[in-house]
Amino acid sequence: MSALRFSGPVLPSGESRDLFVVDGTVTYERPAGAELAASGWIVPGLVDAHNHLGLEDGGAVPDDEIERQALADRDSGVLLTRDCGSPADTRWVQEREDLPRLIRCGRHVARTRRYIRGYAHEVEPEQLADEVARQAAAGDGWVKLVGDWISREDGDLAPSFPAEAVAAAIAAAHAAGAKVTAHCFGTSSIGPLLEAGIDCIEHGTGLAPEHLEAMASRGVALVPTVLQTDKFPGFAEAGREKFPAYAATMEQLHRRRREVLMQAHEAGIALYVGSDGGGTTRHGVLHEEILALHAMGLPAEEVLAAATWRGRAWLGFPGGLDEGDPADFVVYPRDPRLDLTVLAEPACVVLRGRVVART
Ligand SMILES: [Zn+2]
Repeated sequence: MSALRFSGPVLPSGESRDLFVVDGTVTYERPAGAELAASGWIVPGLVDAHNHLGLEDGGAVPDDEIERQALADRDSGVLLTRDCGSPADTRWVQEREDLPRLIRCGRHVARTRRYIRGYAHEVEPEQLADEVARQAAAGDGWVKLVGDWISREDGDLAPSFPAEAVAAAIAAAHAAGAKVTAHCFGTSSIGPLLEAGIDCIEHGTGLAPEHLEAMASRGVALVPTVLQTDKFPGFAEAGREKFPAYAATMEQLHRRRREVLMQAHEAGIALYVGSDGGGTTRHGVLHEEILALHAMGLPAEEVLAAATWRGRAWLGFPGGLDEGDPADFVVYPRDPRLDLTVLAEPACVVLRGRVVART
């Protein structure tokens, strides 16, 4: 394979260097005959920490649509995705050198008739641990629980499963070597999940002060997905007539979400960036989530780190672009630490050492 040269400040350090790509990896030792491929700010590939490849409003989508979703993510600079639940079999994506690296978590596990139809494996509490063990065996080291959802009997948001079932399920996942994350909009589902040793919380709009302390001290991550939580007023409106208590809860969570996010940041919780692409949102929009998190008040460099080098390290990939690391990076025309809007304008996307997109 011929060598490529990229020139410019290399993040996270920001030191201006000539970065070379040989056989899919980064090197700073100048090989013979390296051609300049691009210059600009060289940033480790974006990480979408909450994505749903193969999922649309009605459930699973066919492979050609999955490919379109993955390419939309990739061309926006997303080179590593943690899938957070998909009813589609996306294992073939991992065989494709030209598609982003994918960490699958199998299918969502939800309570019977307590989630969006066609998305999840729906079980009762006594089946939860066995189903989680099955998903742990089928995925790439993560399992996704639906921690809370509207309960039609209660007319309000409520935990999907009792505490004992959640504890048995998380123990089963950990015994199988998988981490567990959970969809949590409200407050009451979170305590039992933390108590049971959960590894990550998705959305997290209902986090209370005692949760923040527990998450920070135990290293439990949070993926806030603010593009998704933007939709709470719509959820409230749609449910208001039949479920007024639910509508009030969703409005309250929406009103407090910025305060909760900033408290989580100030508590030192590890935050990561997820587009929640799939379902009712689109792919290729992680940069919008980055901007939305910054608009909420998170410092630009913090959000950028979470969405790139820190996110990669969290998911077990080399974080920076050090000697010998996989050549997964994006070249931008300006410094994203100073102007996050440049993330919408990747000049050159390099995946596994190949230029896969260029503008
Ligand atoms: Zn999601």
